[in-house]
Amino acid sequence: AAKFISMVSDPQSLKTRLCIIGSGPAAHTAAIYAARAELKPILFEGWLANDIAPGGQLTTTSEVENFPGFPNGVAGIELMDKCRAQSLRFGTQIFTETVSKVEFSTTPFKILSDSKRVLADSVIVATGAVAKRLTFPGSEVFWNRGISSCAVCDGAAPIFRNKPLAVIGGGDSAMEEATFLTKYGSKIYIIHRRNEFRASKIMQSRALSNPKIEVLWNSVVVEAYGERSLGGLKVKNVVNSEVLDLKVWGLFFAIGHEPATKFLGGQLKLDSDGYVITNPGTTQTSIKGVFAAGDVQDKKYRQAITAAGTGCMAALDAEHYLQEIG
Ligand code: FAD
Repeated sequence: AAKFISMVSDPQSLKTRLCIIGSGPAAHTAAIYAARAELKPILFEGWLANDIAPGGQLTTTSEVENFPGFPNGVAGIELMDKCRAQSLRFGTQIFTETVSKVEFSTTPFKILSDSKRVLADSVIVATGAVAKRLTFPGSEVFWNRGISSCAVCDGAAPIFRNKPLAVIGGGDSAMEEATFLTKYGSKIYIIHRRNEFRASKIMQSRALSNPKIEVLWNSVVVEAYGERSLGGLKVKNVVNSEVLDLKVWGLFFAIGHEPATKFLGGQLKLDSDGYVITNPGTTQTSIKGVFAAGDVQDKKYRQAITAAGTGCMAALDAEHYLQEIG
């Protein structure tokens, strides 16, 4: 109790009905709904949390062409700037700090960053996920210039149409991305470092039976080259050390995502891959009053619009919960 009183008297302690952690489409949609419901939410947008700028994953891409309302596409950064402005317009208080710790064992919940301690009656976790990337010479130079980590987002871009493309990975998402890319590319190489896939049998056979897909087993990319955009890859066979020159216009990493859940310190139930588990059809986590939205709880769809959709659900679920507890 003494600790609790000292935290409240701390000048940097704040109280709120709702604290939102994150800054992608899920967090800002939740903030817009909650602020319009006059909950005066506090939002921690992070400062280079997971090396990503406030605004989340979309700040790492150029053009977003599949978000409704933008018939000519919109730059990822512009879309997130607009979401942020809309959150502010309705009275969200935004702190540009990363949450380092939470305490969910007692209410009000405590949310801690370097210089703030927030006591909140409810919390929405919307910290997203990071697509894993590999680094090799050229991987940074051609990032967003042929190299991507999202085939569903970028695969349909004109530069990839009827061109040879490559996918790195060996799990279900690599099979899915390669199969998806056969709609656009002339040929799809799956580059895999082992001599067998980890993917489920059904996903493997779907990919392997596709005449456009060829697998380069026991292979790793050692260099990406090109001029203004990706022109090809040097691919090394790890068994015989031969290096192949692969002319491809696109390279897609499909080596998994890492949800940003470490700061939760195991206080919410997570699945075996570290994603927050929510009750089906809701955003309710294993702790009443704590909700989760966006990619941090979704390893299937992983899109801006689905993140925004669950952000809306989380705000409505939180509003309901706050009405219940009075
Ligand atoms: P994220 O966008 O993951 O954002 C969460 C953010 O919260 C973090 O980035 C960080 O800034 C902040 N944060 C994390 N931890 C903390 C913490 N402890 N404290 C405070 N803040 C924290 N989707 C599409 O629909 N269309 C596209 O064209 C598209 N293109 C993409 C291109 C790329 C290169 C990538 C990587 C993804 C793309 N996506 C696209 C997917 C889309 O970006 C995600 O599905 C969406 O951004 C998920 O939103 P989110 O709200 O869950 O969180």
